[in-house]
Amino acid sequence: MFDALAERLESAWKTLRGQDKITETNIQEALREVRRALLEADVNLQVAKDFIETVRQRAIGAEVIAGVRPDQQFIKIVYDALVEIMGESYSPLAQADPSPTIILMAGLQGTGKTTAAAKLALHLRKENRRALLVATDVYRPAAIDQLVTLGKQIDVPVFELGTEANPVEIAQRGVAHAKALGVDTVIIDTAGRLQIDTEMMAELAAIKDAVQPHETLLVVDAMTGQEAANLTRAFHEQVGITGAILTKLDGDTRGGAALSVRQVSGQPIKFIGVGEKVEALQPFYPDRLASRILGMGDVLTLVEKAQEEVDLADAEKMSRKILEAQFDFDDFLKQMRLLRNMGSLAGIMKLIPGMNKVSSEQLQQGEVQLKRAEAMINSMTREERRNPELLAGSPSRRQRVAKGSGYQVADVSKLVSDFQRMRSLMQQMGQGQFGMPGMPMMP
Ligand code: GDP
Repeated sequence: MFDALAERLESAWKTLRGQDKITETNIQEALREVRRALLEADVNLQVAKDFIETVRQRAIGAEVIAGVRPDQQFIKIVYDALVEIMGESYSPLAQADPSPTIILMAGLQGTGKTTAAAKLALHLRKENRRALLVATDVYRPAAIDQLVTLGKQIDVPVFELGTEANPVEIAQRGVAHAKALGVDTVIIDTAGRLQIDTEMMAELAAIKDAVQPHETLLVVDAMTGQEAANLTRAFHEQVGITGAILTKLDGDTRGGAALSVRQVSGQPIKFIGVGEKVEALQPFYPDRLASRILGMGDVLTLVEKAQEEVDLADAEKMSRKILEAQFDFDDFLKQMRLLRNMGSLAGIMKLIPGMNKVSSEQLQQGEVQLKRAEAMINSMTREERRNPELLAGSPSRRQRVAKGSGYQVADVSKLVSDFQRMRSLMQQMGQGQFGMPGMPMMP
């Protein structure tokens, strides 16, 4: 996501690179590029204008810091403004005391509202919070069925009264039911329409009035682009929202909606939807998204992802091994599997600064190479895996591994020499906590 925006911004930096200071004139071109990039990313026109104005004022007034290039300084100014416009920091869900916390879901039909309700329930469970889902879309029996099915899938209870009941009453009884069950959160799914519609808004407002939710979350489809601003404005003015969930950010979206929502409503985006599966929900971190937009990579997400997978003691052991050049094929295999668990190589590479320029072809080649390496290592004996020198010194061993894995002897020799080179490289770097042993072997 956001690739197009990042690419456009690249030329904005270029116009400033090589200049020795930021001036009224050289910033014109850069600002024009930023503006063009934002509009192409479907950022609302007014939002883009305000943003450019902020950046212009800050850039022109900025002291040129010694040792920093103007383009770098400009990137920093744009980055800070982006983070600011998207809401500074992660904004967690309200937690009511006494419970239950009541969350009202709002949004147009098809935006992913029902899915988001279930995703949220699952997310809460990971935080040891228990939710009840409430189905109030009495106009579409399929919507109720969908919520019931999702509830079963994630093992979260669903409260519904069929299609004959009144949505306001369902919501109220749902909250009462949650209290009886002793769950701490109620997530109320509501009816959406294809377009903003006075009846829908009135119903939503009535439910809100009746249950006094702690959160009213607007679900916005990131693909809506420009429209996101109008949509947010309408819901915020007529119902009042406390935050938003931006869905379908995994798709081919231009992401401008992320900037519009906060700017228009003053309310934060709390979560993003990144896929159809119930697990595909992530907390929204403005700073990370800003670096992603600017093509600075998203190191934080990467590190966090790695941390989820690596047990710390294990990581320590691994770095000690690297420092002492004891890193062997077993460790290599372990790290490769870790990489794979973290997602595809392509996904990970995108998160590393400077790596987002790697072509998909190169990435595919990388994945293939990793698989080949794995097959060859699997054909090694335990001693060989622990002591790669055995292979380096014995053509017959390499031949056996080649035969066992279905590759050529030359492939095995290359793997062994690459491995040795990588190991000494890692030792030199001396700090491969999350060791990316696949990298030196990248084509
Ligand atoms: P609702 O009408 O707003 O309740 O929308 P649904 O929850 O039924 O979702 C509409 C469609 O969007 C479904 O096919 C979902 O699987 C899909 N969807 C929801 N969230 C996401 C997301 O984050 N990414 C992708 N790719 N699809 C999503």
